[in-house]
Amino acid sequence: MGLVINGISVSRGIAIGKAHLLRHDELEVSRHTVPRPLIDEEITRFKVALGKARRQLRAIRDRIPHHAPADIVGFIDTHLLMLEDAVLTEAPIEIIREQQCNAEWAVKTQCETLVNVFEEMNDPYLRTRKDDINHVVDRVLRNLMGPGSGEAGQQSRGAKDRIVIAEDVSPAEVLIMHHEGVAGIVTRYGGPNSHTAILARSLGIPTVVGAPHVQEYIRKHEALVLDGRQGAVLALPMPVELGYYRGRQREEKRRLQELKGIRDLPARTLDGVDVQLLANVEIPEDIPSIKKVCADGIGLYRTEMLFINRDRPPDEEEQFQVYRKIVRAMKGAPVTIRTLDLGADKTLQEVQRDHVVMTNPAMGLRAIRCCLKEPEIFVTQIRAILRASAYGNVRMMIPMLSTLQELRQVENLVEEEKKRLRGQRKAFDESIRIGGMIEVPAAAMAANAFARRLDFLSIGTNDLIQYALAVDRLDEEVNYLYDPLHPAVLKLIRMTIMAGKKAGIPVSMCGEMAGDPRYTRLLLGMGLREFSAYPATLLEIKAIINSSRVGMLEKYIRRILRAERQEDILTLVETLNSLH
Ligand code: PEP
Ligand code: MG
Repeated sequence: MGLVINGISVSRGIAIGKAHLLRHDELEVSRHTVPRPLIDEEITRFKVALGKARRQLRAIRDRIPHHAPADIVGFIDTHLLMLEDAVLTEAPIEIIREQQCNAEWAVKTQCETLVNVFEEMNDPYLRTRKDDINHVVDRVLRNLMGPGSGEAGQQSRGAKDRIVIAEDVSPAEVLIMHHEGVAGIVTRYGGPNSHTAILARSLGIPTVVGAPHVQEYIRKHEALVLDGRQGAVLALPMPVELGYYRGRQREEKRRLQELKGIRDLPARTLDGVDVQLLANVEIPEDIPSIKKVCADGIGLYRTEMLFINRDRPPDEEEQFQVYRKIVRAMKGAPVTIRTLDLGADKTLQEVQRDHVVMTNPAMGLRAIRCCLKEPEIFVTQIRAILRASAYGNVRMMIPMLSTLQELRQVENLVEEEKKRLRGQRKAFDESIRIGGMIEVPAAAMAANAFARRLDFLSIGTNDLIQYALAVDRLDEEVNYLYDPLHPAVLKLIRMTIMAGKKAGIPVSMCGEMAGDPRYTRLLLGMGLREFSAYPATLLEIKAIINSSRVGMLEKYIRRILRAERQEDILTLVETLNSLH
């Protein structure tokens, strides 16, 4: 048997192909002047990057197997010590202050000074320490420069039918890799609910994240098997193993073929409860796959994919054309266009430049917060959505609402734009529905108030879980705590569904939980009647719905909602899933 590396499963499916390693190229660092009042912010940014580098190295050290040579631990410890040394922690701060420059430039300048000192030494051992400095500085620089600084997307050129092995990839890079036609992706870092993971799942790219040391163990062009379901990578497979995985690929194809048999059936339980099955869309090219599974509409169109991988945001006309194309293609079926959810792991240079300090991006200027801070970009999008609404059944959805005040601001902006469009005699749907995503626990707890003011709610479990449990969805270190079955999460979901019922408005779920067949019966029993998920999973969800009886599920739900321990909940959910 070849070498097996286990990571976290992101999207199932088997990929067989050669390894395409993404190198760590030298970073391009440029200098720019930081205005005096922003110097402290720049220093904070540097300190955050330094702290992150320390955490990354500690995590690596903790994962070194006990039997590994002591040198390896020593090597990491040396780098950690360097990150504590004033030459790397204090000197760059002085440079930022004195030269009024950006943190990247200060770090690079200090690195050059140190490397020169080492190069002048006669001792050959000490001379090699300059490599250590370069490694440590490289890590700090990458943290400063954020995702994409390794240009993984660019490097994936020529990776058709190959399995990309990388430290980490951003959602933008996944898009580039998809266009290149990569067979699979394996990363050392990342969690299964990051946007990178969601995108890979939606695009059907078998992917494993959080695979430790994958770059060290796998060599260029090595034959690999990626088992998406198990979250494992197998290097240099034996012929018998290859045969086994090819068999599984055929089996998966057969299973998908069988599911096509229920494509045209409505999603309806055995006791006659109708359910809407909607699709999550990342890019307009997803539309044919929605048609293939006969989804009832689009429950989430993540518009931010239109904004990344480019220097300037798309203007009103460009957005309008894209939205209209999707709306027309859906021929009167609902199309839920989510307004921009930038921030955290999806960044737009234009917006980020002015707000450089993000000590905790997931809780910072993200989604609607970012839009209300950048009304110009937001209003342009509102106008494009309104104009597209003249061509079909459009719903506008606001992400990450946490206060009613935000909602009022959105309503005012929409009303102003409607007025302006009327004045310009541009058509739009006067009664366009506006809904909100419930993904902040506070919003779930105040769901009654939101439900009274909105036309629909959609539960964003990816964020709701991360915020409720204080688990960064991007961080593989705490991924073990990320649990949709935590009693607190179930209560928040239930509250939201009940608030919608009380107000008489539809509630859907568009987080990854809605597309996971393990939770279909649970959610159905809890009262969810609209599921929005990536197209490839919808038929499987339908098969489960069509074999369930809501009446029977509800009895278990009461017990599930009363249970305190996650393991008891899991057992009850498994029982639900095995009911005939
Ligand atoms: C969610 O948070 O569940 C969601 C659907 O939004 P995103 O994954 O884009 O943050
Ligand atoms: Mg979200």
